[in-house]
Amino acid sequence: MKVVFFCIPAHGHTNPTLGVVKELIKNNHEVYYYSYEIMREKIESSGAHFIPCDKYDSQTKLTNEDKEKIAKDLVFSTNLIIDMTLSLDDAILEEMKKLKPDVIVADSMAFWGKLIAQKLNIPFISSTTTFAFNKYSARVMSKEKMGLFKLLKSIPKINKSLNRLREKGYDVKSVLDIIGNDNNTSTIVYTSKYFQPYSETFSDNYVFVGPILREVTESIEKTSNPTVYISLGTVNNNNKDFYKNCFNALKDENLNVIMSVGNDINFESLGKIPNNFTVKKHVDQISVLQITDVFITHCGMNSVSEALYNGIPLVLFPQTAEQKGVANRVVELNAGIFLENVDSPEKIKNTVMNVLKNQILKEGANKIKDSFIKCGGEKEVVNFIENKINYN
Ligand code: UDP
Repeated sequence: MKVVFFCIPAHGHTNPTLGVVKELIKNNHEVYYYSYEIMREKIESSGAHFIPCDKYDSQTKLTNEDKEKIAKDLVFSTNLIIDMTLSLDDAILEEMKKLKPDVIVADSMAFWGKLIAQKLNIPFISSTTTFAFNKYSARVMSKEKMGLFKLLKSIPKINKSLNRLREKGYDVKSVLDIIGNDNNTSTIVYTSKYFQPYSETFSDNYVFVGPILREVTESIEKTSNPTVYISLGTVNNNNKDFYKNCFNALKDENLNVIMSVGNDINFESLGKIPNNFTVKKHVDQISVLQITDVFITHCGMNSVSEALYNGIPLVLFPQTAEQKGVANRVVELNAGIFLENVDSPEKIKNTVMNVLKNQILKEGANKIKDSFIKCGGEKEVVNFIENKINYN
């Protein structure tokens, strides 16, 4: 069978799907993966046919000012999705008609995948690497009411933009047809039912398969001192002051600290690196987590899932609304605590020491770990995709 994937250019959204691609290929399916050049290597090495979409996506050409608009201006961001869909429409629709995929699997933010599937009447599966989203889980993800207000205000303008899609044969009634995910859409969620907020409000069309992790590739020796791992992920990680505060907070403690600072930090700007720290632009996080006792994290869904899969309690330092949602859930399930005052080395030290000693947090993390281990992983995703094809 032929399976087509669509994804956005983000490692966190791509990584969990690669285990699925490998498993599909093992089961003799053919996989075509529409993504972006920066993902080419990892997608091709999973065995899929890679098709780059960079040139169809006007987001890749945005100025920094425009990029800031994406999260705030819904009319602007909907128009970007429409532009992308229409340029893909011109470029790949004929190709897709010839290819005759049996199913399209699209990341919940690669909205064009869903639109193309609808237009060509191809069975569709949504795949979400964050929590599944509905009006209930939204309560954990964002306590902000402004977002909804802004959305309502923008709807008339957005509906006008949607005419551009309708003229090209897309049957979209409202913006919710594009960005919404409902209980009728077959949906893969890469977490457990236990970790998903309000999981009981999602229908049987949702499958909670647990995080799918990369393999451990490096064996790192555990020191006699506990290990603290610090990372702000791969996107918003240029925070020199935070890293320096961590130095001051932990330099005199009997701790082994591993810090991943990302590609944009100038090492010289960090000053002297304390002896008990190892600082790198990038680490093999899955391997580092094998020896980690506490993780100071920006609360990206992947980082949090990878840590909890190893039963590691967390110090939570979220940077975005989505990460705040993940952090709120970790707190609800007693597996971590917020870093309240990030400017105070004393406070950072106390929070880390607190989490290290706190058995309740360790138990909370282990409970989530158990829920992940019980999930079906990539094999369950493949079953889900095969069933979707067979029963359509
Ligand atoms: N990662 C890694 N090494 C690093 C930093 C991050 O391997 O030094 C990986 C991490 O394991 C995770 C991903 O990058 O899979 C980060 O995804 P996440 O959703 O946590 O955050 P984002 O980078 O999207 O903000």
